[in-house]
Amino acid sequence: MNTPTPPKLPFMPFALPEIGEEEIAEVVDALRSGWVTTGPKTQRFERDFAAYLSSDETLHCIAVNSATAGLHLALEAVGVGPGDEVITTTHTFTATAEVVRYLGADVRLVDIDPATLNIAPAAVEAAITPRTKAIIPVHYAGLAADMPALLAIAQRHGLKVIEDAAHALPTTSAGQRIGLLASDATVFSFYANKTMTTGEGGMLVTRDAELAKRAKVMRLHGMSRDAFDRYTSTVPSWAYEIVAPGYKYNLTDIAAALGIHQLKRLDAFQLKREQLAAAYDEALAGLPIVLPPRPPAGDQHAWHLYVIRLADGAKVERNAFIERLYADGIGCSVHYIPLHLHPYWRDRYDLKPEQFPHSQHAFERMLSLPLYTRMTLDDVQRVAQAVRAALG
Ligand SMILES: *Cc1c(COP(=O)(O)O)cnc(C)c1O
Repeated sequence: MNTPTPPKLPFMPFALPEIGEEEIAEVVDALRSGWVTTGPKTQRFERDFAAYLSSDETLHCIAVNSATAGLHLALEAVGVGPGDEVITTTHTFTATAEVVRYLGADVRLVDIDPATLNIAPAAVEAAITPRTKAIIPVHYAGLAADMPALLAIAQRHGLKVIEDAAHALPTTSAGQRIGLLASDATVFSFYANKTMTTGEGGMLVTRDAELAKRAKVMRLHGMSRDAFDRYTSTVPSWAYEIVAPGYKYNLTDIAAALGIHQLKRLDAFQLKREQLAAAYDEALAGLPIVLPPRPPAGDQHAWHLYVIRLADGAKVERNAFIERLYADGIGCSVHYIPLHLHPYWRDRYDLKPEQFPHSQHAFERMLSLPLYTRMTLDDVQRVAQAVRAALG
């Protein structure tokens, strides 16, 4: 007689959004209001977002339909164009770099710091040429890049800094919230698996009034009403001028409705992620794996991702390891296949893995474990158990 196999535990996804009744009610309200595109809820979301980051009234928050759009607008507004070079990390998602190509400029990919997996300031400085226009740091996994060093380099060489903060809500660097540093602009993502979501969406944050003005115009087709302000006191509601071939990057009120309530829960979400990360740290201690770096004392980590690396002496190879976790019903991912390995980037710039030894080494050994606010501490134990078993 066969012994019945025990019921398999449900598959644990790698990421899952947490959408509550308040978000749903606000979306329904947008739908019933008759105003579904950019309108009052988007304006409220922008105001709330600025207030979340700071009480500083000079902060401009510009809602967009993706972080990719926000990065594109920021680079366009600081004047990146053909002939320019922009330096960023190879260890990122392609969106960070593709926006540079949208503008006809070139990307200079550099290696990471092996301890933090963040862009290495020394590698940035070594990659600067007379054509370099800007640096795009990424706060990998939610841990701030070394912004004091990067901002000092930018200042020495007269470079713009646009932060890709897709992972970094909320994160601090030397006690200051990402979004408030002395960079030119910071861009957050509200994609489905990020630390808060609007389905698709993003926020461009800047203190530079001129940059904000340009980004707002370019967010919506290059439309401006300023010209009318100069000549008449009352601008008819239908009047506008096209001042540039702009883009269609505005956020809808349906999406902003989600954002308004996700934002209210952001600190609770961060706390939960931090607790889950601490539980992972404890449960995985002593195994032949490299645990994620902790933030400097007093700083906040957004814990968008919990990335582990198999130690050099581990008995199992990364791909097989992920397969074993899948077989145990655990979803994992890899962040990222570095840009230098993708055909487009590799061929365009003739890149070799040897140019990025730290990113390459990390990539071959890394995986991201499930981390989302609806996970329980028991779920963490279940993953840790599967990790122990998969290590063989
Ligand atoms: C998610 C992500 C983006 C793009 O965000 P979207 O809102 O999907 O455009 C950019 N950079 C990094 C590092 C990301 O993880």
